[in-house]
Amino acid sequence: MKQLFLLFIAAYCIVCLPACQNKKKSLPRIAIAGLAIESSTFSPALTDEAAFHTMYGKNVFAFYPFLSADSPLLKRADWIPAVVGYALPGGAVTTAAYESLVGKMVDSLKRNGPYDGLYFDIHGAMSVVGLDDPEGDMLKRIRKVVGYNTIISTSMDLHGNVTESLAENTDLITCHRMAPHEDGMQTKQRAVESLLQRIESGKGKPAYKAWIPIPVLLPGEKTSTRIEPGKSIYAAVAPASKQPGITDADIWIGYAWADEPRNHAVVMVCGDDKEKVIQTAEQLAHRFWDARMAFAFVAPTLSWKQSLDSALASKKHPFFISDMGDNPTAGGAGDVSWTLSQLLSYPAFKDSNGPSVIYASLPAPELIQQAIKVGVGKEVDGYAGAKVDARFAPPAHIKGIVESIVKGDKDAVVEVSVKVGSIHVILTEKRKPYHNEIDFTRLGLHPRKTDIVVVKIGYLQPELYVMQAAWVMALTPGGVDQDIEHLPYKRIQRPMFPLDKTMKEPDLTARLIPVSGSAPSK
Ligand SMILES: [Zn+2]
Repeated sequence: MKQLFLLFIAAYCIVCLPACQNKKKSLPRIAIAGLAIESSTFSPALTDEAAFHTMYGKNVFAFYPFLSADSPLLKRADWIPAVVGYALPGGAVTTAAYESLVGKMVDSLKRNGPYDGLYFDIHGAMSVVGLDDPEGDMLKRIRKVVGYNTIISTSMDLHGNVTESLAENTDLITCHRMAPHEDGMQTKQRAVESLLQRIESGKGKPAYKAWIPIPVLLPGEKTSTRIEPGKSIYAAVAPASKQPGITDADIWIGYAWADEPRNHAVVMVCGDDKEKVIQTAEQLAHRFWDARMAFAFVAPTLSWKQSLDSALASKKHPFFISDMGDNPTAGGAGDVSWTLSQLLSYPAFKDSNGPSVIYASLPAPELIQQAIKVGVGKEVDGYAGAKVDARFAPPAHIKGIVESIVKGDKDAVVEVSVKVGSIHVILTEKRKPYHNEIDFTRLGLHPRKTDIVVVKIGYLQPELYVMQAAWVMALTPGGVDQDIEHLPYKRIQRPMFPLDKTMKEPDLTARLIPVSGSAPSK
């Protein structure tokens, strides 16, 4: 009986195992790799490797909700994550950090290949000291390892830059369609679904990629999709990409605070229907170009003095002021102390019963240590900011009472609220943008009940946008000065709108980019 049973098992294995293995083999093998940062070359700050909070191997899954343990997408492939890193926007990345991270990425891809597909997750506005087009460079180095049989799908921020080299080495490409980027994760999921669809259907790489550079360079604060003309231009993108014969259609605004030939807007459309691909790309490009004069700041934009005078005169509270020039989410150092110093010197706020103000935020590692030492309710006396970018003001003198200390934030590490006169000053160990209500309430602060809230960001993120009774954007100094017409550009292509206002109509004819691997790489 025992022999019979063993014979049965052996026969079962001979018949069924190869089938089981084949079934397993039929799942496509898809790698995941990418590094994302938006970095200003007009800021003296530098970004190191630690800033990327890099995830390796299986740890990468936690970053993508659409690849969670029970998600349908996870079951459709054998996923082989290599290296994914996300840094807060900042200054240019050091050569050592870039080489180390790309080295690890390439090694991991080499070890675990071959791949049917690769999901390339980038922002697209990384600057690296001494290197042009880092994302294009990274993708070339990835291609050297994975070859051209692998279909690569790239997802980007619409403030990223798409060079011809990047366009050539990727097969599928998409970017956000909303600013602020409420569709951040949807964009990534679209890139992954589109990759799976092309692999599973056997259609492979799209046959045509149309790429159109548009000589327009605008700051994100002028191109929100909440208002016109961005609203209707971007509303046309999803329907354009759903046409038969099109795999994706997208518009990149580009990144205004770096000085490379690639910094400008781009339209890209991919698909199998040549005429449709060309026609759609040209339509989107003309629509964007034709609207260039209409892009305006998303909120009233005033000098600092006008902003504060408006806030003090207003009956609407909370009155939000964006301290835009050093916005860390656009690539500012995040430690320019100019605005806080101005606030602290204002007579109306010297008295603790003056108009209530929250200032968020400024790095002050030494003051944080002092606050931890003395504790809540006690006085601290020291300096904040201007360690990285002291071009506009020296460190701000802070003398006040510690109101709260919170430890453990991924970006800030430690946050302290210090009351100086009627101002609640939020200090951090490392820079952090304040986007959500909980960022304030966990420090015991209540922006809804505060007269004036000054935040070191550009356009307000959704939670703050909903909360504001009034909002102005202040033209303050810093590494992401919104007055881009006065930035010392030397290397961007000219003519460029709005720097060259009288420029002629550009050539917006679609350029067909060769299918990856079909021509010598650029
Ligand atoms: Zn962006």
